[in-house]
Parts: sequence; structure tokens; C-alpha cells
Amino acid sequence: MIEIKDLHKSYQTGTSSLHVLKGINFNVEEGELVAIMGSSGSGKSTLLNILGILDEADSGSYVLDGVPIKNLNETVASKYRNKFLGFVFQSFNLINYKSALDNVALPLYYQGVPAKERAEIAMAYLTKVGLATHSHHLPNELSGGQKQRVAIARALASHPKVLLADEPTGALDTATSYEVMELIQGINDEGKTILIVTHEPDIAAMCKRNVILKDGIIIEDKKIIQQRVKAYV
Ligand code: ADP
Ligand code: MG
Repeated sequence: MIEIKDLHKSYQTGTSSLHVLKGINFNVEEGELVAIMGSSGSGKSTLLNILGILDEADSGSYVLDGVPIKNLNETVASKYRNKFLGFVFQSFNLINYKSALDNVALPLYYQGVPAKERAEIAMAYLTKVGLATHSHHLPNELSGGQKQRVAIARALASHPKVLLADEPTGALDTATSYEVMELIQGINDEGKTILIVTHEPDIAAMCKRNVILKDGIIIEDKKIIQQRVKAYV
């Protein structure tokens, strides 16, 4: 599903250059649930942004579902993002003046899905994340965990091949984090490929594979025995 070879990325700030990714190699198969770990500043978000076609590496190759991701203009990049990828962020990134239902439906609007169908699909995904009763709530009428579930519903509604989540539990308390991880495990059980950036070991333990970044390289990459969330509660 994802093939990364010798990826390098530097940031230019003024006259200095910061070499953030120094030759990253890894592949992700369909159906994996991968935690990308590492201390703050180790390049986790940089890597996830490249995987999400939100940023481009300086060198190396990236093939997503058989498609080489290289030198894309913004139109093609956004087409590939819509087709292949769903995003979940620490800060939820919901639109404050739109209901939960409209937030989930919005990406479908941009894909040209007709209004009635958009509402039906959005409602189906809100139901899937356990929020059918909250479809007309605005984000500020939802708890943090509920907001993240709306964001997950939004990410899933366009059937992405891969779900990319950057610290999805970073703004949540432990119990709520585990509820969100239980949802993510359930989505992965259905076969969805998911990559999660986290620096929390208990969250990483709920995935099936842990990739650890340090100083711009992968220092560890291991399959693990997944902790099921129910075991914690
Ligand atoms: P992480 O997500 O692991 O905390 P990041 O990938 O966000 O790390 O950042 C890695 C390093 O790159 C940090 O030192 C950060 O300050 C720097 N960095 C990230 N984005 C930019 C940018 N747009 N411009 C300059 N430096 C950046
Ligand atoms: Mg980060």
C-alpha cells in the first residue's frame, strides 16, 4: 500500500538548513495498524505530511497504492489526497459553525456528491462512530472525544485507502483516548490501513506495529502483539 525508499527532507530557515528526515525506508501493507513514534521534533509530522501528500520530500521515492507520488501539481495532489487518504488531527479541525453532519458531509460536497446522498452517507458514518443522536450538534456542543469521532467519520466517509492520524489522542484524557483507540481498532479490524503518529507508549501498544524515529532515521520497526482496548477498561 505504501512504499517509501530513502526519503530525505530538510527545512530551510533563513541561511540555515535543518535535515529532518535522513533516509527513511519502510513499507506498509494493506490492513496494517502502525504507530509512528519518537520524541518531539523527531520528524513524525514531517513524515506523515509527506505520506499525506501535504508536503514533498527532497529526494527518495514514495509509491502509494502503486502510484508514484512525485512532482505533483496541487490539482493532482488534491485529487490523490481525496481518492487515497483520510486525515485525523490532534486538534480535530472541524468547522465550528457547521453541524456534525455537515462537517462529515463537506468533503463529499467537494467531490461532487449530490446533497441527499451526502447527508445519507454522513449519517451512516456518524452512526458508525456512535454519534447518530448528535448529528445536529455544533462542535462546541460536543466533548473532545465526540469531536474526534466526528473527525474520524469525516475521514472515512470518502472511503480512503489509508487513514493518517497525527496524535489523534493528544488532546484527550486517558479514558477518552482509549475510547477513540477502540474505534480505530474496530475500523482496522474491518481492513482499513491506518498510520498513527503518537508519542504515548500505551497508544502505540494498541497498534500492531511500532516504528520509532530518532534524529531523522528509523531506529526500530517491529510487529507487536496488539493490546485490545477492552483489556484496559
Ligand atoms: P514531530 O512531529 O516529531 O514533533 P516535526 O516533523 O513536526 O516533528 O518537526 C521536525 C523538526 O523540523 C523540528 O525541529 C521542527 O521544528 C522542524 N520543522 C517542522 N516543520 C518545519 C517548517 N515548516 N519549517 C522549518 N522547520 C520545521
Ligand atoms: Mg508532530
